[in-house]
This record gives sequence, structure tokens and C-alpha cells, in this order.
Amino acid sequence: MSEEKEKSVSAQLKEKLFRNKKNGCLRIDESEMEKADEFCVEYMNFLDNAKIEREAVDYAVTAAENAGFTAFDPAKTYSAGDKIYVNNRNKAIMLAVIGKNGTHNGVRLGIAHIDSPRLDLKPVPMYEANNLAMFKTHYYGGIKKYQWPTIPLALHGVIALKDGTSVTVSLGDNDSDPCFCVTDLLPHLAVEQMSQVMTKAFNGEHLNVLIGSRPFNKDEESEGVKLNIMNILFERYGITEDDFLSADLAMVPAFKARELGFDRSMIGAYGHDDKVCAYPALMAAIDTDVPESTVITVLTDREEIGSDGNTGMKSTYMFDFIADLAAAEGEEVRHVMAKSTCLSADVNAAFDPTYSSAFEANNSCYINCGAVITKYTGSGGKYSTSDASAEYMASVRKILDDANVLWQTGELGKVDGGGGGTIAKFVANLNADVVDLGVPVLSMHAPMEVVSKLDVYMTYRALYEFYNA
Ligand code: MN
Ligand code: MN
Repeated sequence: MSEEKEKSVSAQLKEKLFRNKKNGCLRIDESEMEKADEFCVEYMNFLDNAKIEREAVDYAVTAAENAGFTAFDPAKTYSAGDKIYVNNRNKAIMLAVIGKNGTHNGVRLGIAHIDSPRLDLKPVPMYEANNLAMFKTHYYGGIKKYQWPTIPLALHGVIALKDGTSVTVSLGDNDSDPCFCVTDLLPHLAVEQMSQVMTKAFNGEHLNVLIGSRPFNKDEESEGVKLNIMNILFERYGITEDDFLSADLAMVPAFKARELGFDRSMIGAYGHDDKVCAYPALMAAIDTDVPESTVITVLTDREEIGSDGNTGMKSTYMFDFIADLAAAEGEEVRHVMAKSTCLSADVNAAFDPTYSSAFEANNSCYINCGAVITKYTGSGGKYSTSDASAEYMASVRKILDDANVLWQTGELGKVDGGGGGTIAKFVANLNADVVDLGVPVLSMHAPMEVVSKLDVYMTYRALYEFYNA
């Protein structure tokens, strides 16, 4: 007889019949935890170098090429194990690993988005008011506006010039760079502001960014401060005020990704949603050798504003790529789509004990319990969402359980508490099977979001096992 106390009948029966709700940290061994910590070192570096979608695409192209991916050429024929990529306007990217059966039995899709909420510059951004130079911004994606004043901001993006060249901008992240900020009213004078509802106290036209205060040449000419800043920009980037019209420029939080907690178990950073799924998807694509069916990883743009536009998932760019691959193999794309399966890799809201009333505890996802499968998102009576079928859910569960991937399930908050969506429904509308799988996030869409290292790693493992099942 062993020293270990035998489990009671009810304990054994519970283990057999009940869902395992245990903290994931108690369900894995130490070596798995070490792998998770290791995986997140480069993830944090990715975050610091991919604050906007263009930078994420640059990173992905470099990583893919280093791993043997080559730019897709529709005139070429590809065979099992070949690795190709398509760069869509430097704002979205698709990576394919050709499978033994090609597209014949459908393709395996992993799709994450690489855009995050931020403050875009308006087309005529610069102005001077009371001897201060400012940028007008137009927020992108769902933000709580009060979170953006008085944090350091960095300017990221690209300015396209009429001569066909373009200038890449990344200023504010390094310690030696200047940074920028949105100002806020001092509490002493904020009696009226603080009595207003949040949406009134901070509105979109309050999100003006402070960018300078010294006039040009000590000149008394009007708009001397604006002139001085424009002159600095001309000297640095060769641009004039009109060039802002052909620019994609955004203000993003200037701080770097940081380990969070005394135990360093979490990561606090800007843009986890959805780079925290994009990076694992990219790594799963790179680590996939010769899959059964062709595997396609899509890092898409425009998700935060509804996926409209030619680099978003409402565009035909992914469908057209699959059509090209199918045609080269003599397959009809509609037959390929009908047999295709997809993990829409996106985040879900982790249960937050401070705001517990927004959640329904039994159906929420939790930090450190693994990748979260979200059967449906949407709002109200399951509006605006694709609801993954029972059969497809079963097949995904089997893949993850067979490979010992830690996973959990979660709804997005309590019923009628609000809601949201992902790209899942756009893929489902193409007649593929799709479900959301990703990382639980605290403070989603805030300038600093929080995830657990273990959940990031398990999302990588989930995608890898899905690709290679
Ligand atoms: Mn997202
Ligand atoms: Mn989002």
C-alpha cells in the first residue's frame, strides 16, 4: 500500500465528471513553465518592435524569411513543405506552409490581428494655441478616453511623399528620444470636469497631443512655435505640412513591455490585443514543417474598427490567396473553403475580481488557466457572431486534449453586459468552420494590458497542435 492517501469515491467521481477548474500553474510541470517563460522573452521583444501593424509585418517578414519562407509567386508550383508568404500593402501578411494533401481536404487557418487601439493623427494635425504646438488626433478602435492623457506617447508610422519614396517614423520609445503627451486638467480646477459622466469629461476632441513650445528663431511672427516644429520635421524627415495628408501616423504608449508581479508571472504592455495571438501564430507557422493539409497563418489589420478596408478580413485578400493555391492544384476554391477549419486567434476578457459584477464567474476565462476557447462573441441575443458548431468544438477539444494543451472556455462578460466581436464571423461567412481561441487579458484596450506568460505559451501550443493535427 502506498503512502499516498487513497482518494474518496466522490473525489474520484468528481475528477471523472467535473470540469477541471484548477489554476493551470498547478496542472503543469516545472519544465513546461520554464518553456513558457522562455517563449515570452522574444514575445516581449516583438511587442517593443511591433507597436503598429506595419512594424508587425516588418518583423514577420524578417522572421519568416530567416525560416525559409519566400514571397509567393502565382506562376510557380509549390509542393509539400514549401513555405511562402504574401505581404498585403505592408499592413497585413499571410504565411503558408504547403501540406502533404495541399488544399484537397481544406486548409488550416490561424488568423490574428496586428492593429491595436491608438490615437491616429488627423490629416491636418498640427496647430498652435496659446504658444503651444499640438497635434489633433482621431482615436482608432475602442478606447476609454480618460486612460490616454498624461502617459508618455510615441509617434509611429509612415509618411508617403509625392516622389514615391516614404519616410518611416518611430520616435519616443528610446530613453534618448523625446516623447509626447495629452494633457489633463489639474484636480484643483476640475470640479466641473469631475462631476461629468466619463464620456463627457473626456471626449475625442480633448485628445490633443502636446508637441512643442519654443518659437522659431525667437521670431515674433504668429504661429512661431508651429513653424519651429514644422522646421524640425522638415530637417529630420524632409516633410511639409501637406505631407501629413499622405501619412499613416499614430500616437501609441511610449513604454516598453514589462514583466509584472513579484513572481514575474505576467506581462504588462501596450497592444497585447492582439499581438499576444499574432506572435504565437507566427511562431507556430515558422515551427510547422510538413503538415497534412496546407496551413495558412494570417496576421490581419483593421480588426479594431470592424475589419473594413483592403487589409482587413472583410477584404477578399485571404480568399483570393486560397483560390490561387487551390487553382494551382486543380481544386475549386469553394470546395476547399467548405472543408477548411480556422482558429480565429483573438483575446478574451479575463475575469477581474475588482470588476467581478461585469462577469459571470462560471463562464469567464481566468489568468493562468490556459488558452481560452470562445464559442461565440457578439452581443444581445447572440447578434453579430458566428457560433461554432458542436461538432467543430469537439474536434478542437480533441486536438488540444490529445496534446495536453492547457485550455479553458470563456464568454465575453455577462449576458447583456455589452459585447464585442472578432474576425471569426467573416471567416465563417466564407463557409469554413471557425472558433475563437486566444489569451485572457486584463485591462483590455487600455494603454497597458496584462496577460500571463503561461497563457501566451499555451496559445502558441494550441495553434501549433491545430496546424499539425
Ligand atoms: Mn482583438
Ligand atoms: Mn480589440
